[in-house]
Amino acid sequence: MIKQPKRLIVTGGAGFVGSHLCDRLLARGDEVLCVDNFYTSSKRNVQHMLRNPNFELIRHDVTFPLYLEADEIFHLACPAAPIHYQRDPVQTLKTSVHGSINILGLAKRLKIRVLQTSTSEVYGDPEVHPQTEDYWGNVNPIGIRACYDEGKRAAETLFFDYHRQHGVQVKVARIFNTYGPRMHVNDGRVVSNFIVQALRGLPITLYGDGLQTRSFCYVDDLVDGLVRLMDSPADFTGPVNLGNPNEMTIRELAEMVVELCSSKSEIVYRPLPSDDPKQRKPDIRLAKKNLHWQPEVSLRDGLQKTIAYFDTILTRRPETARR
Ligand code: NAD
Ligand code: UDP
Ligand code: UDP
Repeated sequence: MIKQPKRLIVTGGAGFVGSHLCDRLLARGDEVLCVDNFYTSSKRNVQHMLRNPNFELIRHDVTFPLYLEADEIFHLACPAAPIHYQRDPVQTLKTSVHGSINILGLAKRLKIRVLQTSTSEVYGDPEVHPQTEDYWGNVNPIGIRACYDEGKRAAETLFFDYHRQHGVQVKVARIFNTYGPRMHVNDGRVVSNFIVQALRGLPITLYGDGLQTRSFCYVDDLVDGLVRLMDSPADFTGPVNLGNPNEMTIRELAEMVVELCSSKSEIVYRPLPSDDPKQRKPDIRLAKKNLHWQPEVSLRDGLQKTIAYFDTILTRRPETARR
């Protein structure tokens, strides 16, 4: 039987994760409506898709109502890097709350599935390690990360209330730190910062003592998990952790990046930002069981691909690196 192509909305589709997701959906023959206001991204991420007749780019801010026809929605629109989401914290909250209400209203009218890209940040500075989906989290509601963390928590609430109250079919992924090509050169996240610094021979800025931990997932693995979650049986809503359980200290990451870049950069220590979580590692048993998913790309391989990307970007556009 020939599979009918679907029409899929990807909000935030011009961003780092969103653009890889659009690539994947187009490759399997579906139609993609990419909805983005370019708050933290540029058309460069989707330039190569513009000539594809199955791809449509719509400039739109999801905090305003949106009327389209589609079969499913992947909802990614939201600034994700701390310096991006802290630039205009009120807008960040509006994007999570008003944006989710509009996207859920759209899904309700069309009676279609909608997937929310939530985050490991809903666990805050976790007291449970590794983090399981039944842990309710430890978030400072008035701190500088709250606009993002509490916004995403409120969005999860909205998804489950639309599900219970209006029967909307929802899927919620809690994404852990993800990296790869098309990360922003200057978004301040650790992988992009360290690679750019190492390639340019600048000091590697380690915040705090560098003993805080994270677990880094390559973007292709994450996209695979998102697609499997959307295609999973209707009674599996999540929330489900998607991330790589390979935990390491930020200092170890710095050393690996310096080595892989063959860089002479030295490590310098800078103050730890407030509310910076001390440790983070996903428990992915639920994803393994229900989605038959686990990350396949090793950190070394993923970093090498990411370094190659940044190398090209910095060589081609040296002015970007100065910003
Ligand atoms: P990104 O900043 O590259 O992408 C977000 C996209 O959303 C951008 O293209 C941006 O322009 C768009 N956007 C922001 N506000 C908007 C609005 N009001 N209307 C329309 N578009 C808007 O970030 P990313 O890393 O690709 O993250 C994508 C999603 O995944 C986000 O929801 C983020 O919270 C979630 N997530 C990412 C990570 C990660 O490590 N990358 C971890 C956890 C969760
Ligand atoms: N909405 C939208 N597109 C649609 C349907 C609804 O953007 O196709 C918005 C609508 O503007 C509303 C929100 O989604 O503010 C929530 O919709 P819902 O039906 O839940 O709420 P109501 O319209 O009853 O306030
Ligand atoms: N970090 C660092 N140097 C940098 C950028 C980040 O040491 O140049 C640290 C940061 O304090 C945090 C970790 O790396 O402990 C991950 O930071 P990122 O902003 O990438 O992600 P998040 O804190 O949201 O997990």
